Amino acid sequence: MKNLLKGKDVLTAQQFSKEEILQVMDVAADMEKAVRKGKNLDNMEGKILATLFFEPSTRTRLSFEAAMLRVGGQVISVASGATSSAAKGETIADSVKTVEGYADVIVIRHPQVGSAQEAADAADIPVINGGDGTGQHPTQALLDVYTITKEKGGLEGLTVCLLGDLKNGRTVHSLSHMLALFGARIVLCAPEVLKMPDYIVADLKQRGAEVLEIPDAAEAAQQSDVLYVTRVQKERFASEEDYLKVKGIYVIDMNMIRQAKKGITIMHPLPRVDEIAYEVDSYEGAAYFRQAHNGLPVRMALLSMVCGRV
Ligand code: ASP
Repeated sequence: MKNLLKGKDVLTAQQFSKEEILQVMDVAADMEKAVRKGKNLDNMEGKILATLFFEPSTRTRLSFEAAMLRVGGQVISVASGATSSAAKGETIADSVKTVEGYADVIVIRHPQVGSAQEAADAADIPVINGGDGTGQHPTQALLDVYTITKEKGGLEGLTVCLLGDLKNGRTVHSLSHMLALFGARIVLCAPEVLKMPDYIVADLKQRGAEVLEIPDAAEAAQQSDVLYVTRVQKERFASEEDYLKVKGIYVIDMNMIRQAKKGITIMHPLPRVDEIAYEVDSYEGAAYFRQAHNGLPVRMALLSMVCGRV
């Protein structure tokens, strides 16, 4: 196999070709099998991952760190901007130029859009975007594609509804590009103030995607094979008052699922606030915790690939 990601940065969803995504999926599936069988992988022995997280994270940071340990590598970490020299005013470029002397690959999360690109421009080692503000979250999109493929058998011809805060949610910005690439029909469900940015919708359509806007959640769910629910991104609002106007605007409960398309899969990048009622957790199509777990093999694959160890 020719490793298509060797030495590359992972910054946006659009940077990926279909072939590259499929290769990540294949490597991830093999690694998932190995972990299931209790095998200890050691392909990343001697390599060090640095995680630089300047915004809160549970799944992305822990699954990247666990992934690195599962492939035999080691991890160093700045768990919050407040404990690093960023708090003293150090630039991203200076931090990254320092850290690349200690590690072989960097995962960065930062509130500023374009921060991962800035880090990648400064570093000679691979940089992975773990979320740049309201920009993108490409590794989440990869694990989302992996999840949809596992749950539904593929993406082509599926209708996937992205629901909630499509304006500020970086996960849906990234995922929508991959859905378009694989020929899924995209339904956008958001109130006017949280609509998907026009430049993204234009880009999706330009790539030939079928994009529908259906602001009514029940109606959108009736038409969709997958309902990808997102949290209203409180931290991106100018004021608490503005946030409260849209908080709780959509709540997915069993009543809605009973009226939705049969067999609908419910996804969510998590954390959930109030968008999905807890009663939905026992519905068999509720895939959000399986989705979170899929982050492990996908990130094992990504780290190994960019470091040229597969
Ligand atoms: N965990 C995801 C992210 O970092 C989704 C969210 O925070 O709502 O973007």
